[in-house]
Amino acid sequence: MKNIDLHCHSCFSDGCDTPAQLAESAAAVGLSALALTDHDTVAGLEEFRRAGAAFPGMETIAGVEISTTYGQKELHITGLFIDPANPFLNGFLGDLRRERLERARAMSARLAAIGYPVNMPELQGSGARPIGRPHFARLLAENYRFASIAEVFDRLLKRGCPGYVPRRLPPPEAAIDAIHRAGGCAIWAHPISGPRSDHSWINRMCAKLRGMGLDGVEAWYSTFSPLQTDMIREVAGRQRLLCSGGSDYHGENQPDIMLGRGRGGLAVPGEILEPLRQRSLELR
Ligand code: AMP
Ligand code: MN
Ligand code: MN
Ligand code: MN
Repeated sequence: MKNIDLHCHSCFSDGCDTPAQLAESAAAVGLSALALTDHDTVAGLEEFRRAGAAFPGMETIAGVEISTTYGQKELHITGLFIDPANPFLNGFLGDLRRERLERARAMSARLAAIGYPVNMPELQGSGARPIGRPHFARLLAENYRFASIAEVFDRLLKRGCPGYVPRRLPPPEAAIDAIHRAGGCAIWAHPISGPRSDHSWINRMCAKLRGMGLDGVEAWYSTFSPLQTDMIREVAGRQRLLCSGGSDYHGENQPDIMLGRGRGGLAVPGEILEPLRQRSLELR
């Protein structure tokens, strides 16, 4: 069975490639399925679905990624097999995009105050794209002296840096509920991130999130070692959660990550797809 990739971003959120380019690349690298999981928007999914129809051996899956907070920790939840037309999900995502716009205004004021003004209309681009730090990073890298987008993050945009403004995020149960209402299954994305990522913490978080309705957890991810993947799979089995996996590809915004292949060693097995699909069908 071929490999799949259930986590990537297009230019409709903070990736660089169009949804059509993503579908084409996925077919070119031999994936049998790709989920587009843009942050806080479903706007790229129609183009994605239409482009995918040209590649019969490569299935396109409608997804979304929603950032949430639990205590001090930021947890990301992806939805897979969602209905992009669902009114409740669209209302929920619309609120998140408005919050992003307010936060972007606050960040732009901070950046101007320390000598890095950015142009808000340029940042917004056309339409109601969810503005995030990667959009700031790109513009700052173009207009000022930085070696890379990573350097802009390190100097200005990471948590604790002078240009950083935190987001006001919903709790995980709100994201899980919105995904379920749209008929999708809810996955805890990249459960290993940042300093607090040991086995016992992940196990406890999985149990808590499962109590909130979580369906699965990302066991394959670009930055995970084989041992970390095994650890997440073990926890998933213990907590009766399904396993998902993906690259979190963003195009040139994160040049070290390749679609489907992560940093070169990623291989998400196609076998994990049917249980996820089955769960989403049960949710309808
Ligand atoms: P935001 O949701 O606006 O707070 O921005 C978070 C996004 O920034 C993530 O989804 C990543 O795409 C991106 N990101 C975070 N850290 C970095 C980094 N060091 N280099 C490049 N992109 C990053
Ligand atoms: Mn991102
Ligand atoms: Mn994420
Ligand atoms: Mn992501």
